Amino acid sequence: MTVAYLGLGANLGDAHQALKDAVVCLAQQHAITVLAKSSVYRTAPVDAGGDDYYNCAVKLDTSLSARQLLALCQRIEHHFGRERPYRNAPRTLDVDILLYGDHEVDEPDLIVPHPRMTGRAFALVPLVEIDADLAIPRHGLASALLPALADQRIEKVKPLCQCLGSAAASGDATSGTAVPRAVGPGACR
Ligand code: AMP
Repeated sequence: MTVAYLGLGANLGDAHQALKDAVVCLAQQHAITVLAKSSVYRTAPVDAGGDDYYNCAVKLDTSLSARQLLALCQRIEHHFGRERPYRNAPRTLDVDILLYGDHEVDEPDLIVPHPRMTGRAFALVPLVEIDADLAIPRHGLASALLPALADQRIEKVKPLCQCLGSAAASGDATSGTAVPRAVGPGACR
């Protein structure tokens, strides 16, 4: 069994819902146990146009090889209607292998750790939320990479039910911990 981390993103259709459904799809796989899921974040597109993205990360335990896991990620993307009209096109769902244990893979169609994760807040912030002490092979602590990415917009989406609980308990619908700032359809109002 190997502990792996996936990065999920979407900015086409009901992107927020697609992330939630994709996590359910992952959890339904016999070869996968979902260990943790980050909050959902709303993020500015990086090297791409289109609407804001929704992103999250998932930590899982799996008996699949890295290559089998990639095939599963691509099957799930396809199931969610993913099309690739051009590079970095808006997408209904993107599922990337960020880390696969401490393995390093460098093959034409599979590179792990994911080659662009260290420069992207939308990949690192959810990972650090799940595991504050997470280390990336050859890069060290993921959290140490975040200050350099501070100019990338990323905002935590607060679940609506959390707002209800907070409002009922304190009478203040805007209270609660939210770092980065909570926004979006699930933001407390
Ligand atoms: P994307 O546009 O992000 O969906 O890129 C998908 C392409 O990246 C596919 O051709 C994959 O084979 C390739 N790829 C390389 N490394 C990875 C990885 N760690 N996770 C997901 N896809 C990868």
